[in-house]
Amino acid sequence: MRTVGCRVLVTGGSGFIGSHLCERLLALGHSVVCLDDLSTGSESNIAHLKDNPMFQFYWTDIRNRSALHAGFHSEKIELVYHLAAVVGVKRTLEHPTLVLDVNIGGTVNVLDTAYITGCKKVVFASSSEVYGTPVEIPARETSPTNAKLPYAVAKLAGEKYCASYMQDYGLDTVSLRLFNVYGPRQNDSAYGFVVGIFVDRVLNGLPPVIFGDGLQTRDFVYIDDCVEALYRAGTYSAADGQVLNVASGSQPVTMLNLARRASVACGREDLTPVFGPAREFDIRHRYGDASLMRKMLGFTPKVSLDEGLKRTVVWYRGQRAVAVNTESAR
Ligand code: NAD
Repeated sequence: MRTVGCRVLVTGGSGFIGSHLCERLLALGHSVVCLDDLSTGSESNIAHLKDNPMFQFYWTDIRNRSALHAGFHSEKIELVYHLAAVVGVKRTLEHPTLVLDVNIGGTVNVLDTAYITGCKKVVFASSSEVYGTPVEIPARETSPTNAKLPYAVAKLAGEKYCASYMQDYGLDTVSLRLFNVYGPRQNDSAYGFVVGIFVDRVLNGLPPVIFGDGLQTRDFVYIDDCVEALYRAGTYSAADGQVLNVASGSQPVTMLNLARRASVACGREDLTPVFGPAREFDIRHRYGDASLMRKMLGFTPKVSLDEGLKRTVVWYRGQRAVAVNTESAR
């Protein structure tokens, strides 16, 4: 990809990760077409981009082939970041067929439209979920996958379709297995992700709830580091054809430790976690080996968990202040 002036399309660009990526691409001088059906994304995530003449938004479902074509033809797209997906453990378990439809069917549509319209490269947002209960810890890209849930199966299928479009049709692809990404704009509802849920509860004066004993481990990557990895995956030809973990490269973190650090970041260390029953679908330990990413993208995540939590809390606090001001102005 050229360092400026590239025409880039981001599916899921109004979501948490997608909106940060659009912002970064625009700041670097690229033009951006954002496709999103706003099912979990939000217009407020991209409101600050809409006046930028280099930015276009299309309210589009990636399952709709003709709408996808329109988005690709609005500019001669050179690079695609494919992030649109049905996400979140709770939602994906409640809607397994939708997951397969959007996350496999939609991905094939995106790849095929990219190929047909002469786009050069697709970067696919895969997930550490493909490791399921990992066979090896830390999980390496060469470790066996153990995908069982619909979301994980669909991400694995997406990776395979990427490999197939590269091998059979010459469309360059990279799949990034994102570990737990967190930061500003992440959904903090019950359908959201653990950092947002913990911070939301603590800011509401409630203790974080841990399911099980809290000794399960995860690998947290701050949004800016995730965006850097995505950006480099699109830019570096060394990454073409690769499947790469996007993991912190530091120590795994227990839920108990995360809950405590989230309370500290909110200035409420008095709110110690409470425990609920363990959930059947929860994986015990998952963290990733980041060395292949380091080698292929020349990059290691920089933002520590405490710093990332601090920045995240500042954002959630800002959102609350806006909501309160809007309410009192009524
Ligand atoms: P998100 O829900 O904020 O973003 C997903 C976006 O896709 C949303 O804006 C949503 O409206 C859009 N979308 C969903 N279905 C669509 C459809 N049919 N057509 C068009 N748009 C559609 O979630 P996110 O955390 O930003 O996730 C972005 C990508 O990264 C997803 O592919 C997700 O699987 C992957 N990922 C995220 C994490 C994480 O920790 N956040 C971890 C692993 C993988």
